[in-house]
Amino acid sequence: MKNIFLIALLLISASCSTTPVTGNKAFLLTSSETENQQGEDAYKEILSKEKEVKGTPEARMVEEIGKRIAAVANQPDFKWEFRTLQSDEPNAFCLPGGKVAVYTGIFKYAKNEAGLATVMGHEIGHAIARHGGQRMSQQMATNAALAGLAVVGLSKMDNTKKTVVMAALGAGATYGIILPFSRKHETEADEIGLVLMSKAGYDPRESVNFWDRFSQASAGKAPPEFLSTHPNSTNRRDHLRELLPKVLPDYENSAKLGIGKNL
Ligand SMILES: [Zn+2]
Repeated sequence: MKNIFLIALLLISASCSTTPVTGNKAFLLTSSETENQQGEDAYKEILSKEKEVKGTPEARMVEEIGKRIAAVANQPDFKWEFRTLQSDEPNAFCLPGGKVAVYTGIFKYAKNEAGLATVMGHEIGHAIARHGGQRMSQQMATNAALAGLAVVGLSKMDNTKKTVVMAALGAGATYGIILPFSRKHETEADEIGLVLMSKAGYDPRESVNFWDRFSQASAGKAPPEFLSTHPNSTNRRDHLRELLPKVLPDYENSAKLGIGKNL
């Protein structure tokens, strides 16, 4: 009963916010402050379990690209961090509040800075659009047991709830749970990522090449977060190609780094 009351309260206080860049409407029961705090907690927990790579040329490249994207992302409440984790998985994520992790397994597909900026821009796009918060809000609205997630820190949750939150925020891989984002969220993250990489100075045309080589190379394997089955890679590449005329002026006005250094 208490939980039903809590859900009713949450629904009344739910906000319909507008997503930056795309202007889409978003259903949110969570506050960005809570999401960012939970993102920070989840990041710390992941870093305590995974092996971080520091000081290599690749790790420095991750930081440099991240800083360039952060400089154009206009997210004053984010406390950005860009870390490289040792793993053969070709994956990456960005938790709420700008906590980015890139797995070393992605480097051979990214091939160059613009390829890596495509991946990082996409992941950062999920965080800017608050897709983690939206997923958490959906779970809270449909499951009474999870109604209190919006107001509790990760350290105070039991393991089941913590796993739900970690998966919703996009940090589930460490726990063996990768929750695919919806097609709408994937497309939105692609769009935001493309704008960010262009403004940061990376040639957005390389994003099309990246998706091509990545989808070919990983065909038949379990897809990582950013290559979920939807949208399929042909649609995704075609959509990015359609968007190029919109973002090329941003690139022309930037520092124009081209595809950058090779990895
Ligand atoms: Zn994604």
